[in-house]
Amino acid sequence: MNPKELVEQFTQLQEKFYTRDVKISPVHTNRASEIGHPCLRYLVYLRTRWQDQLPPPPKLLQVYRAGREQEELAKTQLREMGYIIKESIYNFHDPQLQLSGSIDCFISHPSWDNGRQFYAVEIKSVDRFTFEKVKNANDFLADKPYFFRKWYYQIQSYLYLVSQQKQEFEDFAFFVLRNKNNTELKLIDVTIDYDAIEDIMRRCALILKHITEKTLPERITDLSICATCPFRHICLPPLDSGQGLDAEIDEEILNAVKRLHELETQLEEFEELQAEYDQLKEFLKERLKPKFEAGSLEILAVSIPHRFNSHVHFNKRCFGK
Ligand code: SF4
Repeated sequence: MNPKELVEQFTQLQEKFYTRDVKISPVHTNRASEIGHPCLRYLVYLRTRWQDQLPPPPKLLQVYRAGREQEELAKTQLREMGYIIKESIYNFHDPQLQLSGSIDCFISHPSWDNGRQFYAVEIKSVDRFTFEKVKNANDFLADKPYFFRKWYYQIQSYLYLVSQQKQEFEDFAFFVLRNKNNTELKLIDVTIDYDAIEDIMRRCALILKHITEKTLPERITDLSICATCPFRHICLPPLDSGQGLDAEIDEEILNAVKRLHELETQLEEFEELQAEYDQLKEFLKERLKPKFEAGSLEILAVSIPHRFNSHVHFNKRCFGK
């Protein structure tokens, strides 16, 4: 084989390696990890058409694998820091809501009631910008990226399920965030949120109603979510079906989906750039504010890069003046 063929072989073997464990399992309950998904229709499909979902693409499988490895590394780190880790050995389940979840682990510390007080923990590995950005539980309630809210609902589901099992309210749980770039950990406390739990119960009841009545909720309109949905091939009307989509819009949608796929691979980098941009903006806002207030705009106009060289525009963007 020539070098090109060897490289090609490597790529194929790697793809095989990532896809070898792909298994689409039956979904008989509402999963805590999914219940905060923005599309109720997706949640109903998960229960009724689970066998029809598209297998995750290799890129996503790589992310899952990295997540599992990071989780184990985080647990080792916590142990080395003196925490006591109790692995969660079974699935928590509420038969009425048909809600179930498997908690990453429970942690305690010798100083917490002599190591007898344990709390539920969900471990997430994140890029360095997200790591810096997320400071408390409310930061998970942001609309974008939508998985933040999913994570929040996941841990609220755990609080509900643990409370049910113990027959007393479990007041809080923790996220352990792991910075993928430098291995730093961050502990974020999440207090039980009755509004979120009520919404989880409402969602479970609606899913059950749709399953019983063999109906489907409305589609969402956010194409960026639909484009990566494993049920998009059975959910979205075919582009040539004419079901409410005329040819002009079809082409527009087709182009949007193509572009979305292109952007998908760059998304992580984009998020990092966006976060870096936000941080820089905040930094400049802090550092340059006195100069703007002192009226030394001309000095700034020559010292900042050309594309920011309109101080009126810059001033507006940074200070809203
Ligand atoms: S394709 Fe879109 S509307 Fe359909 S189930 Fe998936 S996310 Fe929901």
